[in-house]
Amino acid sequence: MGFRDFLGNSVTVTRLRESVQTDHFPQALILAGPGGAGKYTLALMLARAVNCLEPTESDGLPDFCGRCRNCLRIAEASNLEDHVAEAVAAREDMRDADKRETRILIQTHPDVLIVPPDPPQLMIKMGQVRQVIHVAYYRPPVESKRTFTIFTSSAFMKEAANSLLKVLEEPPPHTSLILLTENPQELLPTIRSRAIVYRLAALPAKDLEALLAERRPELKPPDRALAARLAQGAVGRALTIDLGVYLASRQDALIVLRTALREPDYSQLFHATESYRAGADGQQKTLNLLRALNCLVEDLLLLIAGTPSLLRNLDMAAELERMAQGLTVAWIDGAAKALIQVEEGMRRNLLRSLSLDAMAVGLGDR
Ligand SMILES: [Zn+2]
Repeated sequence: MGFRDFLGNSVTVTRLRESVQTDHFPQALILAGPGGAGKYTLALMLARAVNCLEPTESDGLPDFCGRCRNCLRIAEASNLEDHVAEAVAAREDMRDADKRETRILIQTHPDVLIVPPDPPQLMIKMGQVRQVIHVAYYRPPVESKRTFTIFTSSAFMKEAANSLLKVLEEPPPHTSLILLTENPQELLPTIRSRAIVYRLAALPAKDLEALLAERRPELKPPDRALAARLAQGAVGRALTIDLGVYLASRQDALIVLRTALREPDYSQLFHATESYRAGADGQQKTLNLLRALNCLVEDLLLLIAGTPSLLRNLDMAAELERMAQGLTVAWIDGAAKALIQVEEGMRRNLLRSLSLDAMAVGLGDR
C-alpha cells in the first residue's frame, strides 16, 4: 500500500509528494479532474502521507506505511458512498428537530474531516462549513501533524462559499483544506485564487486495459475491453468491477429496452422485473439494473451523435446500432428522466417491479 498503487498522473502526484517532503503542503488545495480520476483516493493518500506515524519512502519521495493507527483510520473513509449512505440513513431516523441540526460529515480519524454534498440538494451547506470552521480554528490536531478537511464536491450554497472564503483568507497554520472538483469554474474566483490547483486526467481506456491484463489476468480480452470502458477512466472501478453482476443486470436492462422499443412483449418484461423485490438485496439489484440501463441509453446517445468509437458496450455494438435507428435525442432525454423517476420512486419505497414496468411502458410512448 502506498503511492505506487495510484496509477496515472505521475507528474501531479510527484509535485504533491515533494510538498510533503519539504513540509510545504498547501493549506488550500484544489484537486480538479473528471469523475473516477482518483481525486478522493489521492486526497486520502496525501492525508496519510502527512500524518503517517511510520512514514516510509518510495522513489525517493515520502510515502505512508498503510499499517499505523493513523493510516488505518484514514483509510477507513475510502468507501465514501457507504459512509454517506450510513450517515444519511442515521439522520432519517432522527426526530425532525434533530434532523435539521444534523450535518452530513464523515470522520474516521479525529483530525480528518470529510464533507460530502448534503442530500437532497446535494450541495455543501452553511452548517457543514460552520463545523469545518470550528475544527480548523478551535481544534488543533490531536493525533497527527496536520488536520485535513476534504470537500468532496465544489457545489456550495452561496453563504457556505462565502464562509469558506473567510477560512481561506486566514487559514490556521496546522490545517489543510482540499477541495475536489470536476470543474474548478464552479468555485468562486476568490476561492480559486486562494488555493493551489492541481489537475488529474482520466486514464485512457487502453491504459486501463493494459493494467487489467496485469492485475486481473483471469479476464479474457473482450471482457477486459468491456471492463476498461465501463470504468470510464477510473482505475479503482476497473480493478473491482464485477462483470458477472453487470452482465446479469444488462440482460434485464435489455429486456426493458426491447420491450420499450420493439413489439412489446410484456410477459417477458414482467418475468424479468418480477424478481426485483423490496429489501436491501432488491434495492441493490434494482440500482444495478438502473445503472446498466443508463449505460445502454448513453451508448445509444453516442450512436445518435455519431461517435461510435466511445461506445462502452462494445460487445453489443450491432444490436445497439439497430436500436438507435430512428431514435431521437428527445427520446434519450425522456429515457434519462424516466430512470431518475424510478430512482426517486425507490426512495419513496414504491413497489420496485411496478415502477420498472411503468417505466418500460412509458419509454414505448415515442
Ligand atoms: Zn502509517
